[in-house]
Amino acid sequence: MNAAAPTKRKLKVATTSLAGCFGCHMSFLDIDERILDLVELVEFDRSPITDIKHCSPDCDLGIIEGGVCNAENVHVLQEFRKNCKILIAMGACAINGGLPAQRNSLDIRDILAAVYARPGRGVHIPNDPEIPLLLNEVHPLHEVVKIDYFLPGCPPSGDAIWKFLTDLLAGRTPILGHGLIHYD
Ligand code: SF4
Repeated sequence: MNAAAPTKRKLKVATTSLAGCFGCHMSFLDIDERILDLVELVEFDRSPITDIKHCSPDCDLGIIEGGVCNAENVHVLQEFRKNCKILIAMGACAINGGLPAQRNSLDIRDILAAVYARPGRGVHIPNDPEIPLLLNEVHPLHEVVKIDYFLPGCPPSGDAIWKFLTDLLAGRTPILGHGLIHYD
């Protein structure tokens, strides 16, 4: 009787959204039916796709959308860095702070006072300890942990995400050619 061929381990992929709009994850789904090819090669760990809440310690790829705007974002990002061999910053918010970083030129106290002002009733800023502490500024990921790859776009297209991932999974340095790389 022939011995069964050893099955190749699927790569473990975790994804999360920090201070972003979830548009990069929606764009991920634009790979459409190619997701069936992808799940032949990878298994999803923590991700909105699985609803797993914590990144396993043996993840191969971590894909992160959004910048870092609060203490919980810092914690999640550090957990991804600790548990994933390769970290990818996906989209403008992860790479340079994106739209959420537009608040960086303003004082966080002024922003909170404006947002939580109630006409005739003063300012009541929520202070429940369950609410993550806001940082003074929104940071791109690489200011907090080492990032291995940057996938630009707002959002990157499904085709760009597919090309990037298939290059990486094949052991190639990802190269986005003309038409796939953009910064808006
Ligand atoms: Fe949304 Fe664009 Fe930021 Fe992605 S890069 S999270 S699409 S605002």
